[in-house]
Amino acid sequence: MAKRVYLFNEGSKDDKDLLGGKGANLCEMTAMGLPVPFGFVITTPTCREFFEGGNTLPRHLQTEYNVALKLVEEKMGAYFGDPQNPLLFSVRSGAPVSMPGMMNTILNLGMNDVIAAGLAKKTGNPRFAYDCYRRFIQMFADVVLGVKGHQFEQQLDQYKAAHGKTLDTDMSAEDWQAIVDIYKELVNFPQDPSVQLRQAIAAVFLSWNTPRAIVYREMHNIPENIGTAVCVQAMVFGNFGDDSGSGVAFTRNPSTGEKSFFGEFLVNAAGEDVVAGIRTPLPISEMEQKMPAVYQELFETQQRLEHHYRDMQDLEFTIQEGKFYMLQTRSGKRTGRAAVKIAVEMVREGMITEKEALLRVTPEHVESFLHPMVDPSAKRDIIARGLPASPGGATGKVVFSADEAVQVAADGTPVILVRRETTPEDIHGMRVAQGILTELGGMTSHAAVVARGMGVCAITGCDSLSIDTANGTVKTSDGTSFGRLDTITLDGSTGDVMLGDIPKTEASSSEDFQTLLSWADKYRRLKVRANAETPEDAAKARELGAEGIGLCRTEHMFFAADRIDLMRGMILSDNKEERQTYLDQLFEFQKADMKVLFEIMHDLPVTVRLLDPPLHEFLPHSEEDLLALAERLGKPADVIREAARQLQEVNPMLGFRGCRLSIVHPEITEMQVEAIISAAIEAHEAGHNPYPEIMIPLVINVREIRYITDIIQRGILKAMAEKQVSIPYKIGTMMETPRACLGAKRLAPAVEFMSFGTNDLTQMTYGFSRDDAGKFIPVYLDKKLIEHDPFVTLDQRAVGRLMKIAIKDSKSRKKGIKYGICGEHGGDPVSIQFCHEIGLDYVSCSPFRVPVARIAAAQANVRLDGDE
Ligand code: PEP
Ligand code: MG
Repeated sequence: MAKRVYLFNEGSKDDKDLLGGKGANLCEMTAMGLPVPFGFVITTPTCREFFEGGNTLPRHLQTEYNVALKLVEEKMGAYFGDPQNPLLFSVRSGAPVSMPGMMNTILNLGMNDVIAAGLAKKTGNPRFAYDCYRRFIQMFADVVLGVKGHQFEQQLDQYKAAHGKTLDTDMSAEDWQAIVDIYKELVNFPQDPSVQLRQAIAAVFLSWNTPRAIVYREMHNIPENIGTAVCVQAMVFGNFGDDSGSGVAFTRNPSTGEKSFFGEFLVNAAGEDVVAGIRTPLPISEMEQKMPAVYQELFETQQRLEHHYRDMQDLEFTIQEGKFYMLQTRSGKRTGRAAVKIAVEMVREGMITEKEALLRVTPEHVESFLHPMVDPSAKRDIIARGLPASPGGATGKVVFSADEAVQVAADGTPVILVRRETTPEDIHGMRVAQGILTELGGMTSHAAVVARGMGVCAITGCDSLSIDTANGTVKTSDGTSFGRLDTITLDGSTGDVMLGDIPKTEASSSEDFQTLLSWADKYRRLKVRANAETPEDAAKARELGAEGIGLCRTEHMFFAADRIDLMRGMILSDNKEERQTYLDQLFEFQKADMKVLFEIMHDLPVTVRLLDPPLHEFLPHSEEDLLALAERLGKPADVIREAARQLQEVNPMLGFRGCRLSIVHPEITEMQVEAIISAAIEAHEAGHNPYPEIMIPLVINVREIRYITDIIQRGILKAMAEKQVSIPYKIGTMMETPRACLGAKRLAPAVEFMSFGTNDLTQMTYGFSRDDAGKFIPVYLDKKLIEHDPFVTLDQRAVGRLMKIAIKDSKSRKKGIKYGICGEHGGDPVSIQFCHEIGLDYVSCSPFRVPVARIAAAQANVRLDGDE
């Protein structure tokens, strides 16, 4: 049977999995010779045994920890349950991954009537002894017996009022003794210290499964089955008198990252008083005046710990009768700005390497430089939760239509656009909105993709909302409601919807951030491109370091109000001639837009995808829209209705899309190719170096590619011959259907690049329609039927396998093909790591995601190739 109990001198910081973060660090500090009150740790596998055994402590555990307990007694020179010389314990949770405040703690364990009297006598401080006792009763009752704290607080308030006392410091020894008697009437708790210890250990294990701990694990992707360790540590007392105290400190400022010792402390107080915020703590600098010797010891200790752990530490300490004790150290939580500053400065100080610095930042840290973020320390009353579709935080007044968004935002009022779902017709409203909230749609729905592209915060698939657009009200499933022009806040990074204006941090770059990005560029192999089609998005992408455009969705270029009707007219045309008149007009837009993109991306490749409009996104949705469109197109409503009916698809996501359009209407491709190449030639003539790459979407076989490549090549030759210039270009395909991946060997000879369109590839591999997945994926995640949303994190077992097959098979047939990814997974760090491993050449993601992808690509290199 594996050892279940470790003394503090039997482990190290590397034992986090076994002893939990807190336990492992207590062992490490003990080994460093720091003044840590002695104790022992019960391991995380014991927690799993506890659950497997039906929530009972394993047989023999008590015998094992009693052996450790004896050794702690010897070391501390005090004895558990001995009234003459009592030893009290703190019993705390400590999981391998930090879950601050989520589980339970009991302090002063080992107290009872006789021991309180003994402690009063031994210390000559009865006020202290009974203060400890009443704290113990309240905590034990709360954590072990399930009697909630407010009952005790009520009694304490009543007592204070009846006796003319206001503060805890006004209470005498007799007062606390009286409170203990009152508390004992509220609960019946065991007087035997060893029974208390057994029950407390079980209660800490059980607290792994409190609702708040479960929610926290879900939010932070912490596995359910790891369990918590239990740290049993000798108590020291900061509430012993004026030469005692407690505090918490950070070795650097956790919100700015500044290198200055930062913390707070309270004289004559237990650690929990500092944390609970009942008394206002003093800044740590005042400790230097009040207790200079102890301050010196604390200061030296924090320096030692930061050097030892090579990271910013968050410390807890206590001073008892002038003697300094360390109770905890861990890597401190920090804001994104602090994380980057600390990482970069530690490299300058020679403490860590550039590669290590890169591993110290998360996507959320990076995002705080790109978007305003909901302040992590702000109180949030969540009224609904949807999918975190586009990161950042936004506050604004609720509007229910794109037109209303434009009207209300005209004078600069921030707005949140709330819709059941969005369509291309909503673009003008999406552009002016601070945030977008939709009831339907998943992570690759129209709202999600467009919002991410624009860098606008969005939450999709928020199905607990019932939106009544006509009356301008929204109800959530918990009964809360809000209406038109009410202020709400969205956290697009978590999916939380909140009432009112919740504070946000500002976004702006910094020198340190740029330094870190330059290191990322030094260590990454994967190139990073952007998915962009408007000049603004392309310029943003380039500013944020994109090395080209990996996906220009040409149909998105026709969303703007002055061209969407041309696109609709083209789609709804009933003959080739009519279609050609629309195409001629679209040609001008296409060429002008492409020229701007080539100019912005000067010297860098621009992958232009042939038209792939999910047709339903362009058809009129209501009778009202249909009548208005008929009028604008100058056609009878019946003709439009009939054309729309004919184009109506049972399953538009799997319908008449992608290269199917080029096959059925080659004139569309002819127009596009001519526009793209003419634009490239004009950009070239204006002194730029355009690199067009024409990409054929949604292919299933090589015959399609050959058929379309013929059209493309004819168009290219015609345009180049007319102008007598030659510019480099490539023709490639998107790998978006399982069949294309499985038949990659046959596609290979016909292409120069393959770009995995993992949105469609996921949709088709799972058989989950992208537009509808938002309705059930949250339920699947909730019931743990899938681990991640496959539209966010690439499913390596299915989609990833198809990609690997496609690469291996196509490489076996033709060398020199370039491989990329341009589905939404191209911006997801876990997926990027996979793309690095399977040897892709580039990832392409939304412009605002480019810095995240640059860092994730470097992290993938460092993780895989090590840190030498
Ligand atoms: C894809 O399918 O992954 C892709 C990028 O194309 P779209 O999202 O436009 O279908
Ligand atoms: Mg696609």
